[in-house]
Formats: sequence, C-alpha cells, structure tokens
Amino acid sequence: MGSAVPPTRPRAWRPGFFLLFQLALHAAALWLLVISPQKWGMALATVVASQLMLMAAGLWPRSTCLGANLVRLPAAAVQRGEVAVTIDDGPDPEVTPQVLAILAQHGVHATFFCIGTRAAAHPELCHCIVAAGHRIENHGARHPTLLSLSGPPGWRREISEGQQILQRITGQTPRFYRAVAGLRNPFLAPVLHHAGLQLTSWTRRGFDTRERDPEKVLQRLTHSLTAGDILLLHDGNTARTSVGEAVIVSVLPKLLEAIRSRGLTPITLNDALPVK
Ligand SMILES: [Zn+2]
Repeated sequence: MGSAVPPTRPRAWRPGFFLLFQLALHAAALWLLVISPQKWGMALATVVASQLMLMAAGLWPRSTCLGANLVRLPAAAVQRGEVAVTIDDGPDPEVTPQVLAILAQHGVHATFFCIGTRAAAHPELCHCIVAAGHRIENHGARHPTLLSLSGPPGWRREISEGQQILQRITGQTPRFYRAVAGLRNPFLAPVLHHAGLQLTSWTRRGFDTRERDPEKVLQRLTHSLTAGDILLLHDGNTARTSVGEAVIVSVLPKLLEAIRSRGLTPITLNDALPVK
C-alpha cells in the first residue's frame, strides 16, 4: 500500500484546457509527419497556428488561457464594495514619498508591486511603505522588457531573486506577482505555482507610463469603475504632465475621491484575498 499524501503537500501544477489543446495540436502535427511525411506542410501549418495562439494569449495581459490570472477581486470583496489600487515599478525616491503622502491624506492602503533592484537601492522607501500599512508585492528583480521570451530558468531567476530581495527588506513574504507589462508565455504559470505566488493583472489601467494628460488617465481608471476592480498606476517609470509632475501624483487624489464618491473602499490585495 502507498503512503498517504500529507495534507500540506502543494498540489502539482496542471495545464488548463487551452494548453492541453495546444499540446494536442503539436502531437497531431508530429503524428501526421510520421504517418504521411508528404503532408509536412499541413503539419507545419498546425504548429505555426498553435504557436500564434500561444503568442496571442501571452500578449493579452488579462487572459487566463496560460494559467490562473487575477484580473478582479473575488466575489466576497465585490460584495463588500472593495477595489484595489496597485502601483508598479517603484520605489522611486522622488515620486513614492509623494504617493505615500496622498494615500495617508486619504487614509487609503495600496499595493506596491516593487522591482527588486530598485527596492535594494532604496530600502528606506520600502520600510516607509510597509510602516504605513501598505503591502509590497513582487514585480521581479530587474524588470527586463523581454522577460516574456524567457524559458523556465529565466522566469525562476527573475521571480525568486525579486522575492528574496523584498522579503529581506520588508520581513514580509510577497503573495502576488505581476509580469512586466502583463506579458507572459506558457513557462510562467508552473514557475509561479512552485513559488506559491499568484499572477495578478488588473481590471483597468491608465497607461500612465506614456500618457501625459492626467485627465485621460483618470478617465480610463474611473470609466465604469465598480466594486472588485483592480486599478493599475505607476510610481516608477511614470510619465510627466506638461508642468513636469509625475502623472500619478496628479491623478491619485482625484481617483481616490472618485472611489469614495461611488461608495467603494480601497483595500490591499493581501486584505482582499485572505490566505487559505
Ligand atoms: Zn512594470
């Protein structure tokens, strides 16, 4: 008789329907090549079509085809009227203190997806973020633009190094990971599963890394704003307004007022999704 599986043992990662379908397409192409080598063109077309589908899924930040992906808060948080303000690419020595001051004025807690190397360069900012009751989550160690072209070792290195840096500085263990620009490939989901991290995208974003008009950013974030939304802004790599102000600094007070005027409550991802 086999021994019983300990209840604390993490479940093995299993691909979902979409990935199984792509595997089946590759297997069918190989089988066609074996039984009818003269139909190599059809086999090649099948593989190319499958690769294009995988690429499209990876380029769509809010898709769940490649694995679990949090794009809205769970039903319980929706019922409580909660939304999550998430802030990426910091900490930044100029912008982050201004963002923290605005959040404090409004009595709001946010989630900061910090880049490991930036956190290591400004650990005092991370301490301020955590001391104010906000949460720091994992946005990778270096934030490389082409990370979505990586294989499993590249994803593992970026995510585990980011996790270690943030853990060492804050004393807290990040639970959520956000991909660079939300771009992925099929190798990410098993790496995150093994690391115990949950991929988190967003419900709506303001494109505030390239949009210089704060009104347009605000409009994108507040248009159809409703309970359960995960909103994305940036305190690092932020665009500047015509007067040189970080866009988030101009947008955030109005966004928090809009959230309040709709009777919604900003909350961190960590508070919205209790540990099971
Ligand atoms: Zn980013």
